[in-house]
Amino acid sequence: MTLRPCHPFAFCFLLLFAVFAGVFPLEVAGALPRAATASSQNVNLNEVFLQWKLTRVALAPSVTQWKNQWISVDVEPNKSYLIINNTRVFTGLPVRLGKGGANFLSRLDFDNALLPIIAPRNTRDAPARRVYHVLIDPGHGGTDLGRINKTGMSEKMLNLDVARRLKFILERKKIKVTLTRETDVTIPLEKRAAMAKKIGADLFISIHFNAAENAAEASGIETFVLPPRGQRSTNDTSRDTRTLYTRYNGHLNNQWNVLLGYHVHAALTGRLKATDRGLRRARFHVLRENTCPAVLVECGFLSNQTEARLINQALHREKIAQGLADGIVRYQTIVGKLAAPARKI
Ligand SMILES: [Zn+2]
Repeated sequence: MTLRPCHPFAFCFLLLFAVFAGVFPLEVAGALPRAATASSQNVNLNEVFLQWKLTRVALAPSVTQWKNQWISVDVEPNKSYLIINNTRVFTGLPVRLGKGGANFLSRLDFDNALLPIIAPRNTRDAPARRVYHVLIDPGHGGTDLGRINKTGMSEKMLNLDVARRLKFILERKKIKVTLTRETDVTIPLEKRAAMAKKIGADLFISIHFNAAENAAEASGIETFVLPPRGQRSTNDTSRDTRTLYTRYNGHLNNQWNVLLGYHVHAALTGRLKATDRGLRRARFHVLRENTCPAVLVECGFLSNQTEARLINQALHREKIAQGLADGIVRYQTIVGKLAAPARKI
């Protein structure tokens, strides 16, 4: 990551541009956190947020909100997540409470969870890639049924239904769309990830539905992107470190994966008014091996009676597709402004 000092005039220009263009509602223009970092391992969030001229508000005895007119970040010590503009983003390590009430975030989380979302122009590990062509991956299919609930609803068919709806919406927005499967057929995971490279897709989105065997009350949306090297997957409590530092294709797009995942997750939970189960991390095959920005969305729980009844309705699945499309278009707009001039077609 390159942190570039910002000239005061450049700062004003960026600020005005952001306001008038309305393009970066989440972006903090201006001072970058070079001086505010306490060490290479941890970042003092209080110092960074003060540099960014965010205002501090106590939401609860242990929860602090930092905000300006565009963004808010809720921070709570010992929790492994931040709430960024009312959307939960999981971190690899918990926020730590330091001397004088300062909150510290690991450098890995700062660079890979916070900065790409609120200041994407400053986190260019890889060039921004405009979105012309989206590969939608309806999870499972054929002999792989995916989740099935007590009433016989099968995930593979629901995934395909939402994928078709999403394709229709994106095509109306002049985005080229390909599906990894158009029908109920078995496709190996390796083929799904490889297809994005083969067809030159700019974005990969895998659609799934969830189920919790021992928690019938579990409901809501979970969205997954690849964790950076050295960071455990969100639900991984094992001591297995064999793949922790393995370098995957997906790591080429660390920052774009997170930006994409954040906007898809925020748009979908917002559209459905569903429980926000957070932007999470997992080393799923399709996230590890994709060479373009990739996200996997669990669009609701088939094991929850109330949610399953909703998912069974075409109108609700249309809403899901709309939410996913909203997130993709938000992401498309941001990277479109950050990318090099458009290629000639
Ligand atoms: Zn699935």
